[in-house]
Amino acid sequence: MLISDKFREECGVVAIHAHPEAEKLAYLALHALQHRGQESAGIVSSDGERLRSHRAMGLVADIFTEEVLTSLRGVLAIGHTRYSTAGDSALLNAQPIMVQSNKGAIAIAHNGNLVNAGAIRARLEGQGSIFQTNSDTEVLVHLIALSREETLPDAIADALRRVEGAFSLVIISRDRIFAVRDPRGFRPLAMGRIPAPTGEKKDTVVFASETCAFDLLGATYERDVKPGELVIVGPEGISSRFYAPSPAVSSCIFEHVYFSRPDSIVFGRSVDQSRDNMGRQLAREAPVEADIVVPVPDSGNTAAIGYAAESGIPFRLGLIRNHYIGRTFIEPQQSVRDFGVKLKLNAVRTMLEGKRVILVDDSIVRGTTSRKIVRMIRNAGAREVHLRISCPPTISPCFYGVDTPSKRELIAANQSVEEIRQFIGADSLAYLSIEGLKKACGDGENATYCSACYTGNYPTRIDVEEILPVSATR
Ligand code: AMP
Repeated sequence: MLISDKFREECGVVAIHAHPEAEKLAYLALHALQHRGQESAGIVSSDGERLRSHRAMGLVADIFTEEVLTSLRGVLAIGHTRYSTAGDSALLNAQPIMVQSNKGAIAIAHNGNLVNAGAIRARLEGQGSIFQTNSDTEVLVHLIALSREETLPDAIADALRRVEGAFSLVIISRDRIFAVRDPRGFRPLAMGRIPAPTGEKKDTVVFASETCAFDLLGATYERDVKPGELVIVGPEGISSRFYAPSPAVSSCIFEHVYFSRPDSIVFGRSVDQSRDNMGRQLAREAPVEADIVVPVPDSGNTAAIGYAAESGIPFRLGLIRNHYIGRTFIEPQQSVRDFGVKLKLNAVRTMLEGKRVILVDDSIVRGTTSRKIVRMIRNAGAREVHLRISCPPTISPCFYGVDTPSKRELIAANQSVEEIRQFIGADSLAYLSIEGLKKACGDGENATYCSACYTGNYPTRIDVEEILPVSATR
């Protein structure tokens, strides 16, 4: 048994209730959520009688061929896209997870991480439960299947009260879709609607991690599933209940910094606006004389636009990204310095030569990428490189569903800003303050945020023994 220190996985989820091509809508929505996970994807559909599942490693567009989608033909569907550590067990851990329970077949897709799954799993195994995967989501599946409650909605609510941590879930049964957020609302989950075509009675109700998926489906965003809410969509219509009292809401601020797409509304706020505000705030907090503002594409784009607008320094695309990098590539035998980054980014020498450059990116994790990019900009002839980061130093790992490495690998957990500047080789380095970030994301108005990755203050109890490592067994 190899215990990985990787407890986290990043995911996107989607659910479709009542559409003649539900599986195709789920596929399109997953396509729009591909940035949330590129390792595996799956769809489970129901034709009203039985569930059908397909899961595979790889990208959504490659997995779901015409033939696969035909085999998934259904009126309800849920989908999942996932990123976690590669490994033998990766496909086994792909979602949705489907099970037969005494309340019928169900399948679950989960975004987030439970923080007490290890303890529950040990107890259930002691009582004879056999686990097929090492994912925390399976713990939830067992709890639902073992619940003494008589109906499926009651069994789900009962199971949800026993788990702790981050979970935005979609669940499918023969004739229902369930959508859930944990009481602290860590991860997003939005609800939307596609109006019924003329002649049809019922609208299609859709759920997705991000609203950019709705735009592709022609769905309108209605609202978020609320923290602690269980929404049920079935033959009788839509109902909602709060399965647990909500403690203070702590939505993930990193969704606004990096993870979500800028064309999404997340936690009721435009991600684009948050990022633009971050850039403007950064310009106020950390101004520097320079000739041009250059984003690290795509993660630094919007904050760089904000920085440029606030500072009055021209915005220029000094780095060009290649969008067509496949999963496999052949590296020359004589290894090329910074090969990985060069494959993805190239500097525009004619623009950068002799310039004082403000380089804007969203975050520094290990510091290795920024170091390579700064070197690239210098090699293209820039006179000065001032790195500006649109969030505070990342000092603590996330246990709620974002893939940050352990403290040991987080450069800001181990080095001062000046030491990081030296390592990266920039002329100056500044991060956005935590107050500035929260202000940029509208903290306190409609949302309150978890910023544990920047503060080390976790909103839940954290016992590392109780957090199931991802892909722990080989
Ligand atoms: P590095 O400092 O070399 O580890 O890379 C940092 C870059 O990776 C950031 O600028 C982000 O664009 C990107 N990044 C940050 N957090 C994540 C994450 N959780 N998953 C994937 N990419 C990330």
